[in-house]
Amino acid sequence: MMSGGAKALTAFVAGGDLKDSVFRELVEALPVAIYTTDADGRLTYFNAAAVKLSGRVPELGTDKWCVTWKIFLPDGTLLPHDQCPMAIALRGAEVPTGIECIAERPDGSRFWFTPCPAVVRNAEGRIIGGINLLMEITDRKHAEIEANEQFRAIVETTPECVKIIAPDGTLLFMNSPGLAMVGASAGDALIGRNVYDIIALEDRNRFREFNERICKGEKGSLQFDIVGLKGARRHMETHAAPLRHLDGTTVHLAVSHDITERKRGESAAFLLGAIVDSSDDAIISKSLDGVITTWNKSAERLFGYTAEEAIGQTVAALLIPDDRQEEEPDILAKLRKGERVDHFETVRRRKNGSLIDISLTISPVKDHQGRIIGASKVARDITERKKSEKRLVEQAQLLDLSSDAILVRDGHDRILDWNRAAERLYGFTREEALGKISHELLRTEFPEPLSAIRETLLRDGHWSGELIHACRAASRINTLSRWVVERDKKGDVIRILESNNDITERVRVQEEVRRANKDLEQFAFSATHDLQEPLRSVKIYSELLATRHGDTVDEEARKFITFVRNGATRMELLIRDLLTYTQATKFDPGSETADANEALNGALSNLGGAISESAARISADSLPSLPVHGMHLQQVFQNLIGNAIKYRSPDRQPFVHVAVERQDGYWLFAVSDNGIGIDPEYKENIFGLFKRLHTSDEYSGTGIGLAICQRIIDRYHGRIWVESEPGHGSIFRFKLPA
Ligand code: ADP
Repeated sequence: MMSGGAKALTAFVAGGDLKDSVFRELVEALPVAIYTTDADGRLTYFNAAAVKLSGRVPELGTDKWCVTWKIFLPDGTLLPHDQCPMAIALRGAEVPTGIECIAERPDGSRFWFTPCPAVVRNAEGRIIGGINLLMEITDRKHAEIEANEQFRAIVETTPECVKIIAPDGTLLFMNSPGLAMVGASAGDALIGRNVYDIIALEDRNRFREFNERICKGEKGSLQFDIVGLKGARRHMETHAAPLRHLDGTTVHLAVSHDITERKRGESAAFLLGAIVDSSDDAIISKSLDGVITTWNKSAERLFGYTAEEAIGQTVAALLIPDDRQEEEPDILAKLRKGERVDHFETVRRRKNGSLIDISLTISPVKDHQGRIIGASKVARDITERKKSEKRLVEQAQLLDLSSDAILVRDGHDRILDWNRAAERLYGFTREEALGKISHELLRTEFPEPLSAIRETLLRDGHWSGELIHACRAASRINTLSRWVVERDKKGDVIRILESNNDITERVRVQEEVRRANKDLEQFAFSATHDLQEPLRSVKIYSELLATRHGDTVDEEARKFITFVRNGATRMELLIRDLLTYTQATKFDPGSETADANEALNGALSNLGGAISESAARISADSLPSLPVHGMHLQQVFQNLIGNAIKYRSPDRQPFVHVAVERQDGYWLFAVSDNGIGIDPEYKENIFGLFKRLHTSDEYSGTGIGLAICQRIIDRYHGRIWVESEPGHGSIFRFKLPA
């Protein structure tokens, strides 16, 4: 059943004219442009509003499809008349509702409209005509365009990055500041691409989740890093909201700003704060009225006030002792003039009332415009330095009392102090010496490389040795030098104390004695050598006298000949031993190392006859190698073991043992026997030349054996001594450097 209105409309369209005057009046009066066409699209009716809107009076029966003159799509393309919405509808096709078009009037003016074409069919369903309503939307469109333009202007002028992202990450829009931030020269480089590609790898997943959340309708903000098209990394902060897109989907609208600089500033400020807090110096800032504004950890340590207690107080009230109050106005006046106060040494008061020596460096602090707004103040505790300065003065006074030349050096050998005795000894005044490198000033000759001396000094804390120094007068002096190193709590060298005792005279005398000894040795050698010749004559002729004339002389003469022969033999022994004595140290020890086992074996083989004759038993520890000449060691063993056998007890089989043990830097040897022993009264004596406790009748010998041992061992700065109990054997001990 068709309603009355519909019937009227059908009739209206089909008839091309309006019979029903009420209806006609109604349509005429409507402010909406309406027109009708026949099935071919030829105009059959239009109302006054259509004329007004289109700016022309159409020709009925001739004009087709449109009352309008020219139609354009919103993007500006001209639409041919047979493609206009009414034409499409009459062809039976669906025309989407709500499409927007632009029409141009013959006078060139344009207007926006939305067409609402509808077809009218007869009872069989055939299209018999059409009716179209043109709703003008120019005002709305203009408002929309204006709003759009405003939005674009805002978006393009904001320094932030404005962007729209699709749920899958496709970048739909980005303003030019945003494109600049990511290093894109034009939108084409990025728009339409997936935005995830420029998110830093470590933030990409977080960003994807964030985008998906926003596209589901949430709001939110996020910080992330981007790596721009040119590789630059930037730190971004974004605030995002969902946006309904034209196609009905929800997309992600975001305003992001570059917080790289802010982050850098934050981390720089953080670092600076950490540096200030970790400083050993008290770092304080104050306003130009002297009110404390910041207070670091060391300030707390140094002055005893916490930051809460100190900030807001004036420096004058909190720290400055009463008798120094005048300092602060002077300091503040300087700061106001933009001047700095450098290493100002003064005294300040702690919370507990005690005073400390400090060194202050205060600099004016300026704002961005260069105006002085306050001051930064670095206070260093110099109590220790003051104390050590005082100590140094006292020390210097003490040093001056010493008769040794004393110089104090720093870790780089620069002379820090130089006492009176040093002035006297070397001829350089204190002023001349201070600051000089000690071994350069004194042209020191060291007994070993300076680096090796330093090594010993640092390891043991002290060193001593003989040095040769040059005085101002260019003469050379020998000194016995003792060095002691002083370190701080951390173990760093503070200074080295060097005390030099002049031993030039002693060295000269020693040298003279050495030379005299050498001459004496030379004399003894040639004397003993030369003595052998006449001795040989005495021996030969006394032998000849005994063999050839023994029978012809009387008893008394024979006895005298025997005395001469015995005397000559003994003299021969004496000369031999004396020669050995003078030669005892002839081997240069050099850098030789002797295996004591070998030296012992050599001695035992030389003593072979005496050993087998006395049936002596000899044993020994395993012996070490040591830096002596092998022949020297062999001689010592031979003399000691020879004596042990010679001075054996008649009641028992002789037993000799050679033992050794390590002691400090020495090897301590012991040759013990079970012989007759030695009266303690003589235990020093027996090491002298020709010193014997027995006559030649009792025991053969010359009294030179132990003197030789002593001489050899002295040569190595060792020592030999005896421990004995008469009747119970003896222990001869000697030590040699290891
Ligand atoms: P010599 O053996 O030629 O007399 P030495 O210098 O070797 O000379 O010894 C000096 C003296 O020391 C000896 O005369 C002896 O009285 C005593 N003496 C040395 N060694 C021993 C020993 N092992 N036991 C007892 N007395 C000794």
